[in-house]
Amino acid sequence: MLILALALLTTGCQQQQPIFKETRMMMGTFVEVTSAHKEAAGIAFSEIQRIESLLSKYVPESEISRLNNQGSITASPETRQILQKAQEFYKFSNGAFDVTIGPLLDLWGFSDKKYRRPQDAEIAKALESVGSRHILIGDDTVELNKTGMKIDLGAIAKGYAVDMAVKRLKSRGIDSALINAGGDIFCLGNKGGSPWRIAIKHPAKTGFVKYLNLQNKAVATSGGYEQYFNSNGKALTHIIDPRRGLPVENKTVSVTVITEDCLTADAIATIAFVEGRSGIERLKKAFNAEILLWDETDV
Ligand code: AMP
Ligand code: MG
Repeated sequence: MLILALALLTTGCQQQQPIFKETRMMMGTFVEVTSAHKEAAGIAFSEIQRIESLLSKYVPESEISRLNNQGSITASPETRQILQKAQEFYKFSNGAFDVTIGPLLDLWGFSDKKYRRPQDAEIAKALESVGSRHILIGDDTVELNKTGMKIDLGAIAKGYAVDMAVKRLKSRGIDSALINAGGDIFCLGNKGGSPWRIAIKHPAKTGFVKYLNLQNKAVATSGGYEQYFNSNGKALTHIIDPRRGLPVENKTVSVTVITEDCLTADAIATIAFVEGRSGIERLKKAFNAEILLWDETDV
């Protein structure tokens, strides 16, 4: 889907500059690029498309799909690097962040949207195939060291894709654009001299819960409301606690992280969602991040 809109930006009373906004369905979400540079969206979309073809488990020929099917592949430096990063977040979070949750997402129906509540024995069995320590990254290979292991990069791939799109824009001399991949955002430069204005979606109602004014910063939001299903009166979210094999159940409804790069923002938003409020001080310090967290009681 491609929506092309042209709007007029007014900066105070001095200057009027056309701003272009394009939206495209990519990586399972809407990616929106806003810039005074007409060519920015095309450049960003083609880079995000490249990352999706490399890392999405839903693209049959991607390196991640081949890894999931074959258990071992010769992998590009880029895939090895992102898996390396994922392993670092796994270690830092003591397993709260784990890209090997693929078998659990399949079991709960989050991969194909055929939601179901599995039996305890099925969860215990799937957990045997979960654990990022079993990803073996070699000089040019990646191996999944346990049978049934499956990688899902849903918690970081969009952030990484946004960072790569920004890098591509900069290399083409574009210093001002806003890229939003379903809530994973980078504010490149500013908008006609003023910071970019970001609206954070309210987790429980229509409308927004917070506005941010940012330049050259990344923002990512993880919310239980993004994908969930109801079972026995409970909303079960797509963010899984990999140590228990269960959808995260804490009071957190939404987390927004502001950092220098979008991959980090994306990863730590997911970690903070799993850990809840008690985990955020440590994350803030370690990653020099600003973290906004909303509990059930806040909204
Ligand atoms: P995000 O919206 O960035 O928080 O990412 C959520 C997505 O990451 C889910 O839809 C899953 O694909 C995947 N995921 C779920 N739970 C975890 C987890 N504990 N660690 C890493 N990835 C996860
Ligand atoms: Mg994330």
